[in-house]
Amino acid sequence: MPTPEDQDPHELPRIPELLYSACDEGPFKACVACGADLTSPEAIYQVQKTWKNDEVVFELAVCARCASLAARDFSAESFERIQRFLMERYQPSLDLGHCHFCRKRLDGEEPAEYEVGGFCRGVRLLRPVVIICTSCSEKSQEDLSEQTRKAWGDFVDSNIPGVPRSLEPDTIPVMF
Ligand SMILES: [Zn+2]
Ligand SMILES: [Zn+2]
Repeated sequence: MPTPEDQDPHELPRIPELLYSACDEGPFKACVACGADLTSPEAIYQVQKTWKNDEVVFELAVCARCASLAARDFSAESFERIQRFLMERYQPSLDLGHCHFCRKRLDGEEPAEYEVGGFCRGVRLLRPVVIICTSCSEKSQEDLSEQTRKAWGDFVDSNIPGVPRSLEPDTIPVMF
């Protein structure tokens, strides 16, 4: 039975489990950079998770304020390049089983490598989940300026001490 809350047409969908934190075992609770509470209904934030061999190897949630502060250090050119790549190739879909850029299936026999990105507000989803396979993601990161790679690397380094060694900060795609 749907609850009255679910019947409200203005209500946003809840965050799918795909965007849950593997560490928090539920929706992300705090901004990785400033520690802001993300469970508040007013909290607007982005989630990024990376799978390799069917395992989550990297995840972060960052509040809108910290994301824009970090992005300030990215070069405008890099930012435009990523945005252009994503806009031109993005094929929106509610199907979470394939890459939204090249349509490659991710639930085949090979262990899938991909990233998911989500734009959330509290425990609700503000925009459809975006799924990008590793090869499309690598293409989107080609030609990034040294300045942007360094800014992103510094951000990851200083906020996420648990990044596995096999995953250098500059191999984690810039998503915002
Ligand atoms: Zn923050
Ligand atoms: Zn792809």
